[in-house]
Amino acid sequence: PEFTEQHGERRADVTYDDLGGLKDTIDALREMVELPLRHPELFQRLGVDPPKGVLLHGPPGTGKTRLARAVANESDAQFFHIAGPEVMGSAYGESEKKLRELFEEAAQAAPSIIFIDEIDSIAPKRGQVTGEAEKRLVAQLLTLMDGLEPRQNLVVIAATNRPEAIDEALRRPGRFDREIVVGVPDERGRREILGIHTRGMPLDGGADLDELARRTYGFVGADLAALVREAALEAVRRIMPELNLDEATIPTEVLDRLAVTGNDFEG
Ligand code: ATP
Repeated sequence: PEFTEQHGERRADVTYDDLGGLKDTIDALREMVELPLRHPELFQRLGVDPPKGVLLHGPPGTGKTRLARAVANESDAQFFHIAGPEVMGSAYGESEKKLRELFEEAAQAAPSIIFIDEIDSIAPKRGQVTGEAEKRLVAQLLTLMDGLEPRQNLVVIAATNRPEAIDEALRRPGRFDREIVVGVPDERGRREILGIHTRGMPLDGGADLDELARRTYGFVGADLAALVREAALEAVRRIMPELNLDEATIPTEVLDRLAVTGNDFEG
C-alpha cells in the first residue's frame, strides 16, 4: 500500500473498503464532499455552493475518523486533523491562533479536508457556564467558516457524539449545515467489519465470523477491531512454546501453523 507522512506517523491510506456497515453513510459523504472536491465545475455551472461543513454524529468508535480519512484519500485531498480537546487549554489566544493557522495551511494545500474531532469540546453551547476562552474559540471557528469561499475547495468535517452539546450557531446555513449519522452497526455491518479486520489473517476452519457477528450485538467497529487483535494475540501465545526466540527469524514451518481459531476469539 501507499504510505503518507502525517504528523510524523506513517500509515496506510484508508479507503472506503476499510469501512464496514456504512454504505449509506459513505454514499451521502461522497455526494456532499467527494463530488464537489473532485468536480467543483459541476456546482459552478449550476450556480450553487457545495457544503462547507458537514457534521458527523454517532457514538464513539463507529468509524467517524476513519471515514473522514477515507473521503480525503479518495478525493485526493489533503487531510488536516484537529483533536478538539488538544486545541483547548493553551495560553491566552493560542488556541485561536492554532485554528487560524491550520485553516490557512489547509487553504494553501487545497483541495483539503479539515477534520475536527470532538467538536463539542471546542464549540460547546455558549451560555452562563462557558468560559471566556471557549467563547472566543467558538467565535473564531465561526469567523473562519464564514470566511471560506466555495472556490477554495476546502471542506470542514466535524465529529461529535453529543450533537445537542454544540453551539447552535455552528449549524446555521453556510456552516455545518449538513449532518450525517454514523450509527452502531447491525449484524450485517458487524460481519463486514470483522471481515475487514481479519483480511489477510490466517483463520482456522473453526473461526466462524458469521456466528461472531451474531453474538456481538452492541459492538461498534472499535470493539470488533479490539476483539480481532486479542484473538491474534491468543494465537501467538499458543504457539509461543514452539518458538526459539534466540533465532533470527521464525521458521516458515512454524509460521505456517499459526492460525486464529474460534477459541482464540473466546479470549
Ligand atoms: P471516536 O468518536 O471515539 O473518535 P470514531 O467514531 O472516530 O471514534 P474511529 O477512530 O474511526 O472511530 O475508529 C476506531 C477504530 O475502530 C478504527 O481505527 C477501526 O480500526 C475501527 N472501526 C471503527 N468503525 C469501523 C468500521 N465501520 N469499519 C471498520 N473498522 C472500524
